[in-house]
Parts: sequence; C-alpha cells; structure tokens
Amino acid sequence: MKIPDAILDFFLKSEHFFIATHISPDGDALGSSLALSLALESLGKKTIVYDKDPVPEFYRFLPGSEKFTNSLESFASGRQISNLVLLDCNDLERAGLEKITPSRSVVIDHHETEKEFGDIKWIEPQAAATGLMVFHIIKKLGAEITKDIAVNLYSAIAMDTGTFRYSNTTPPVLRVAAELVEAGADPSYISENLYETWSENRFRLLLKFLNSLEISNGVTIAKITLDMFRETGALVSDTENFVGFSRILKSAKISVLFREIENNYYKVSLRSKGKQINVARVAEMFGGGGHRNAAGYKIRSDFKTAKEKLLEALSASSEKHT
Ligand code: 5GP
Ligand code: MN
Repeated sequence: MKIPDAILDFFLKSEHFFIATHISPDGDALGSSLALSLALESLGKKTIVYDKDPVPEFYRFLPGSEKFTNSLESFASGRQISNLVLLDCNDLERAGLEKITPSRSVVIDHHETEKEFGDIKWIEPQAAATGLMVFHIIKKLGAEITKDIAVNLYSAIAMDTGTFRYSNTTPPVLRVAAELVEAGADPSYISENLYETWSENRFRLLLKFLNSLEISNGVTIAKITLDMFRETGALVSDTENFVGFSRILKSAKISVLFREIENNYYKVSLRSKGKQINVARVAEMFGGGGHRNAAGYKIRSDFKTAKEKLLEALSASSEKHT
C-alpha cells in the first residue's frame, strides 16, 4: 500500500485537523477517525472529530468515542474549516457537510464509487477498510500504536471484513490484525462489544426484519418501517448489519433491506456474495455507492415502485455478467 507523499506531508506540516466521516457511522468510520485523531494528538497536533450523527450506543466502548462532536457551531460564526480530513467517504454530502467550504481537504477512503472532491486524495478500493489505510499512515508518521489506537483500528477492520470472513480478508490484513493484537487489542473483548451487547429493542426489531423477509430467485428483500421503530423503540443505528443476516441463506445471492426514512422515502442497503454482481454499480445507478459486495442508496418513491426499479436494475446487471 503506497501512501501518496502529499498525504504524509499534509499531516506532518499542519497542526490542526478537522476529521470527519460519513453519516450513520459504522465501525470503520468511527474506529479509523478515532485512531487517526489519537495518533495525531500523540504527535502534539490538535484535532476535532466530527460526525453529523451521534455515536451509536454499542460503539461507545471505542476508546475516545466521547471526542466525537456533531456541532459545527464554532465554524458557523465565520471560522473556516482549514484542514478537513474526510475518512471512509469521499464527498461532503456523505458526511452531511455539504454546506461548508473547507480551505483545504484531504480524502482517505476505500469505496469503489468516487466523487469529484478533495485537494489531496488517497482512494484505495482494494483496501479492506479505511482503518488499514490509517494504520499505515500512523506507522509512517512515526506515532506509536497505543492500546487505544489498536482497539479502534482492530474494530474498524473487523467490521469491514465481517470479522475476517469476507473475501477482502487477505494475509496482509491478518498481519496488521496480529500486530494490533500485540499492541493490546483483545479480539474477544472487542467481539463481545461488537456482537453481544444488543438492547432488547434492537433484538425485537431484528425479529420484525426477519418476519418481513421475502425470498425469490436468489434475492432476499426485507423492509423496516417507521411503525416497526415505533413499536420496538429501536433506533436507526440499530439496523446496522441486519441486511447481512440474510447472507446465511445458501440461496441468497443478493440481500436487500428497504428502510423507511419517511413516507415514500427509503434507504436501500444491498449485499451480494462473490463476484457475480457488483452492487456498488447498481447503487450508483440510483445515485448511491459503496463496495462490490456492500452498497446503498436513497430513493424517493413508494415501496412497490422502488422494489420494481431495483429488481429491473439487478436483472440488467446480472445479464451483463452472463
Ligand atoms: P449500508 O448499506 O450498510 O448503509 O452501506 C453499505 C456500504 O455502502 C457502505 O460502504 C456505505 O458507505 C455505502 N453506502 C450506503 N449508502 C450509501 C449512499 O447513499 N451513498 C454512497 N455513496 N454510499 C453509500
Ligand atoms: Mn469502510
């Protein structure tokens, strides 16, 4: 993994950084942002870590998670964001920052779908997680991988590799994970926090998700409605990885979740297995993006039409491969 010199120069020569990541942050977004912030601060630099959405309860074990702010107040009064570091996404809109104009911006990301943004960019779709890219940056900057940094980076990589199960789990990924364990990341403590700390509300929502599942022609489609959130008291962040559950079905080549944001407005999550269908390209057709096997988009439409449009796009995309 070759880090562009301009990225290293940027971190070495500047003193203040505004680190931001995508809305509805996942483990990679949170872990890579916190690790970078902790490392830069250990080198005597100042950082702000921003996410538009709050850190989900089950990620609060990540060391430093209390550093996250969702306030832009001090910047609204005329202070410009000078050194923006965008992690795990590559445009301002994904970070909910479309209203700001940073004077300098750096993008560090591993998504296949890339937008025109950033003065200095390092986008590496081959990287299993943004956390891996941040690991290499931290090492190159000469900062120590402390236990707190290791826990954040291990969690980031664990989440984006399906805990070392997906096809992006390569020998270099496992070597980095081993180094993080040596630096103090405890795999069993982290897995317990990531997977065994669900609230009852979240579990009840999962049951409703499973009950809504339709399976046909290798595609599973599930739906989460606003009523289901009301009935269970679960939060939007509680739906993270629900769509991954349907992967356990042998027949499921593609798994889809429609989550109702408001009336006639849905967030669609797509997952595929293997090389046959690149769901990032499907999501892109609807203005979204992501990775080959995990992608998403938002659509303003009723459920039936949204579903039909997606099924059409999926069959067009699978025809291209046969
Ligand atoms: P999820 O379905 O879990 O929200 O997201 C799966 C992957 O697709 C993540 O890597 C996420 O960053 C990406 N993704 C999800 N929704 C969107 C979207 O609306 N736009 C873009 N560009 N990427 C998305
Ligand atoms: Mn990621």
